[in-house]
This record gives sequence, structure tokens and C-alpha cells, in this order.
Amino acid sequence: MTQRLLILGGTREAADLAAAAVERFAERLDVVTSLAGRLAPSQILPGRLRVGGFGGAAALADYLGAERIDAVIDATHPFAKTMSGQAAAACETAGVPRLALVRPPWRQRPGDDWRLVHGAAQAAAILPAIARRVFLTTGPGSVGAFAGLERIWFLVRRFEPANGPLPLAGYEIVVARPPFSEAGERALMERHRIDTLVTKQSGGATEAKLAAARELGIPVVMIERPPPPPGPFVATVEDAIAWLEASGLARA
Ligand code: NAP
Repeated sequence: MTQRLLILGGTREAADLAAAAVERFAERLDVVTSLAGRLAPSQILPGRLRVGGFGGAAALADYLGAERIDAVIDATHPFAKTMSGQAAAACETAGVPRLALVRPPWRQRPGDDWRLVHGAAQAAAILPAIARRVFLTTGPGSVGAFAGLERIWFLVRRFEPANGPLPLAGYEIVVARPPFSEAGERALMERHRIDTLVTKQSGGATEAKLAAARELGIPVVMIERPPPPPGPFVATVEDAIAWLEASGLARA
């Protein structure tokens, strides 16, 4: 009998998982990926797609029942803590097994100068003492935290163009999507005379900027992750597939 997997997506790992699950289980597993829908997907998503919020944890629990979801893998971004919390609550309510696929954080290497902070407000608070020209790669949701810093100029990277002006005194926007090369990141930072990089501790494939900062000898203001969701988690797509196999889902 076909069983149904819901992947909470929005990350490269979620797309890779959808591809691996479709390939591994074929018609034995109906793979549905859910996206919040704020950005156009940057990868092809094998399986089915649903787009938009569920309307909170209780509504997600209803969805799991109505759609007869047999398992959920939360492969959202490590900073998508509202969605992860709601998924945990909804799966518990609906009695649906859940696994979190959490990409490993980046690790400091010799030569790195990381300033660890909790949240964008703390990042903004330490900038005046160390920075004049900042490369800001924290995503659209946190730009407002840097609004009061009138003596600092920002190079703001976005995956999609901004809808209107940003609340920053001086800035330029660069629109680009991964992959980013080390040489490209270094050239970008040199061209704009960047003296500080601000990033979330996202982990994953966008770490070339960290190597470039190391080479240029500039500090990195690293916004630490929120706590991970409760319950079981794995770090790789392969381990998520192994969990599906071990759970007896999509048994031949
Ligand atoms: P969030 O704050 O945890 O979630 C806000 C709301 O968006 C949720 O309550 C939910 O709405 C909806 N939502 C989030 N992920 C969803 C999904 N996969 N499917 C359906 N609805 C979803 O999330 P966020 O930080 O805004 O991130 C939004 C999406 O972008 C996530 O899917 C995440 O994986 C991806 N993303 C986030 C970041 C980041 O830095 N935060 C970076 C890259 C990608 P309802 O309450 O209505 O259900």
C-alpha cells in the first residue's frame, strides 16, 4: 500500500531528500514537499508540491489527518524555528512520526575571527565598535535590526530583489543565489572594501564567504542558531532515508 511522506522544505537538503525518497521508494511512497512560498524554488522538486502556511500547529495537525500523512520529515532551515515547533506539536497531536533533518553547523577553523552573538539585535549592537563596511547575508527578515546604524555602510545580499527601499542609511543590494565560490566571495568583499561579515550560523553550502573572510583577515559576526526542535534528528539525507526504511514505511 502506498504511504505518504510530508517533507517540510525550503532548503537544498529538503529538495535532495525529495529526490532521494522518490528514487529509493518509487510508487511505494507518495512524497509531498511543503514550501512556505516566499521564494520561488531554486531546485526541481521531485514528488508533489504544496505551497503556503498551514495556519498554525492545530491546522497542521488537521492537515496531517485529512491528507493521511504517515510520516513527517522537518527539513526546514535551522532558523525556521516557528515552523519546526509547530511541526513537533502537530505531529504529537496527530500521532504521526516525525524526524528533523538538521544540517550541521559550520565549524571555526584556524585563522577565523568569529564573534558569536544571539540574534540580529545583538549583532547590530556590536557592529559600531568593529565595523564601517559590512557584508550582510542574514536574509530579508533581519535587516530591520540594523536600521539605526547610520555610520555603517552595508552590502546586502538577497536571493531575490527587494520590494522597496531597505531601512538602512547607506547600502547596496547584490542579488545572487548559491553556489558561491571562494574566489568570487573574496573579490566581492575586496571590491566593496568590506571590513566585517555578518551571517547566520546556517551551515551548508554557502560557507565560501567564511573562507574569504578568513583569507582577508576580517571578523565574522556569527548569529547562533535557535535551539533545534525536540525529538529525533539526523544530519544527512542518507540518514533520513535510513530512518524511513527503519520505520517500516514504504515497505515492499
Ligand atoms: P518560520 O518563521 O519558522 O515560519 C513562519 C511561518 O511560515 C510558519 O508558521 C508557517 O506558517 C510558514 N512556513 C514555514 N515553513 C513552511 C513550510 N516548509 N511549509 C509551509 N509553511 C511554512 O519560517 P521562516 O524562517 O520564515 O522560513 C520560511 C521558509 O524559508 C522555511 O520553509 C525555511 O525552510 C525557508 N528558509 C528559511 C531561512 C531562514 O533563515 N529563516 C533561510 C532559508 C530558507 P503557518 O503557521 O501558517 O503554518
